[in-house]
Amino acid sequence: MADRYVVGADIGGTKTAILVCEPGTRRGGAGRIRTRHVAPTAVGSPDRAADAIADLVTAAVDEAGGTLGDVDGLGIGVPGRVEPSSGEVSLAVNLGWQGLPLGPRLEARLGVPTFLENDVRAAALGLHRRRVFGDVQSLAFLAIGTGVSAGIVLDGRLHRGAKGLAGEIGHAVVMPGGPHCACGLDGCFEAVASGPAILSQALAAWSAAGRMPSPTPRAAEDVFRAAEAGDAIATQVIAKAGKAVAWGIHLLALTYDVERIVIGGGVSHAGAAFIDPVRAELDRVRDASPLAREVLAGDLVQVLPPGLDAGAWGAVTLVSEALDPLPGQGREVDHA
Ligand SMILES: [Zn+2]
Repeated sequence: MADRYVVGADIGGTKTAILVCEPGTRRGGAGRIRTRHVAPTAVGSPDRAADAIADLVTAAVDEAGGTLGDVDGLGIGVPGRVEPSSGEVSLAVNLGWQGLPLGPRLEARLGVPTFLENDVRAAALGLHRRRVFGDVQSLAFLAIGTGVSAGIVLDGRLHRGAKGLAGEIGHAVVMPGGPHCACGLDGCFEAVASGPAILSQALAAWSAAGRMPSPTPRAAEDVFRAAEAGDAIATQVIAKAGKAVAWGIHLLALTYDVERIVIGGGVSHAGAAFIDPVRAELDRVRDASPLAREVLAGDLVQVLPPGLDAGAWGAVTLVSEALDPLPGQGREVDHA
């Protein structure tokens, strides 16, 4: 019998990561990785998106030594609002996609059953199913990158919410009157703590103080580096972002009382410069409140190690779950 594969693709704002895996033997698990394929995301016309992704998937399967006929299913994680039942991306602001029937187009192009989910939510599911942070029943994955949002697994199930917006805490207001957010509000969590927000707040403060570093910082990681080198303005911006992240963790803990809150996303890759101010603020909150001490106790807060491909693994997990759904969950798969 020919080798069978499941494929997961994580469509990021800048890069797309694809894993071609052997199907797992356990629910939600996947077997050995046959190929890991990373390419720049072809951002551009939404009309070209399905073709560009289809080409990448075809190349990755080819690299694994297979053909599309050997693929049982394709999972796609997209940074935006996704309707899993129709495979439509209703809104992916950073990719410029709106009302894009990505799932049906990919199925038509590739002839492979395709399953879509919000990228952060897919990653949360993958982290849970692969037991990356232990054999827990509940987990929240808080991604801090170009945007800020959380994916939540409760009692072993992905929590999507009535409108498919559960976990969108990037648009909860953490600082009334703070920086303006693309969603229309001021002082959103995302407008304070995302990568672009950290950069723009630091640039504004440096400019106002007449102390713009040279060369001009171009990304959040430059701000973290400046803070590590002792720059007072960068340190202040990062402390503010760290407080917002601690607030987000506290909010998730109080709302869902999960066993693990995993912090990931591009901004978290700054390491100690990112997480130390967060931990300091969490300590302050714990010291002030016995309730906070209890809800934030133990090894609740974990940082996702970089290079774990959480999004692509999540997309692989989507396929495993869809092909072998829990009772009362998942959609029917047409094997025709
Ligand atoms: Zn907002």
